[in-house]
Amino acid sequence: MDSPRVLISGGAGFVGSHLVDRFVAAGYAVDVVDNLITGHRENLQAHLASGAVRLFEVPAEAFEPPTLSYRHVLHLASPASPVDFGPRAVEILQANSQGTLNLLEIARKSGARFLFASTSEVYGDPEVHPQTEDYRGNVDPLGPRGPYDEGKRFGEAATMAYHRNFGLDVRIVRIFNTYGPRMRLDDGRVVPNFLRSLLEHRPLTVYGDGRQTRSFCYVSDLVEGLFRYATLDRPRWRVINLGNPREITILELAEIIQRVTGRQVGIEFQPLPPQDPRRRQPDIRRARTLLNWEPRVPLEEGLRRTWEWALALNQGEGP
Ligand code: UDP
Repeated sequence: MDSPRVLISGGAGFVGSHLVDRFVAAGYAVDVVDNLITGHRENLQAHLASGAVRLFEVPAEAFEPPTLSYRHVLHLASPASPVDFGPRAVEILQANSQGTLNLLEIARKSGARFLFASTSEVYGDPEVHPQTEDYRGNVDPLGPRGPYDEGKRFGEAATMAYHRNFGLDVRIVRIFNTYGPRMRLDDGRVVPNFLRSLLEHRPLTVYGDGRQTRSFCYVSDLVEGLFRYATLDRPRWRVINLGNPREITILELAEIIQRVTGRQVGIEFQPLPPQDPRRRQPDIRRARTLLNWEPRVPLEEGLRRTWEWALALNQGEGP
């Protein structure tokens, strides 16, 4: 019998490629749609060589499927680093609007389940803490994060419209800060920035006073949650948060990462980017109940693994 087939947009990216690994391990054939503006073919190298994965190098909105036999369609394609929210604003808006509509239509025609990778950014600079799924957020459409935040909010609305109007079996995941191997070290987010500084023995750049908080989830934990939710029969909720609820300040992150790597490089304070959210922490009660899921990798352990990967990459040992 043929393997079940799954379509993953953004499958050459950081989170996407780990999710591809998970589906391949579970016996699926995987079609990846990725225009490679932030993804990398190397992230899929072994699967491309073995034939488990086919890569279609186009944006999600331009993808014309070679088959309509997908069991699952998962839409992860979108630049996701705040440094991209300005220069890549139009690509972000397209991927999350026309890209989402195109993949929803492919899922509908395939009779597939659909998963939309949304973000904690739909909560904006939250006034509710920790963030529960029924919180509607505090987003400025005109602000520097508007293209990403509103793009994802459009994607969620489109996903629910297909659920209501066509009975499509959909799931929306609001992904909180995630880190791990295969992040681009030049992507501008805090963990890759810190790793790069550590590799180069330069001080860590802390924006603002460093008292803003985030909650960091190791990529294997996130991917396990995504896989379970995507493949779950009859989910009770159509939207869930996935993330690690351990909340820390950026200053604490700077201390921990120096301790874990054994490199005391110090801190250099830089201006806080406008509209940088003050606090962020997921409420994961839904994910716990629905998926029997819990983040397993403690921050120190995840940072150690990511550091080892970055060191190997820096020494030219490949991805
Ligand atoms: N940040 C920092 N130094 C850096 C990069 C980011 O202090 O070199 C801060 C940033 O201002 C934010 C937090 O770290 O408060 C997380 O930033 P990131 O870009 O990783 O993701 P965000 O959660 O803002 O989307």
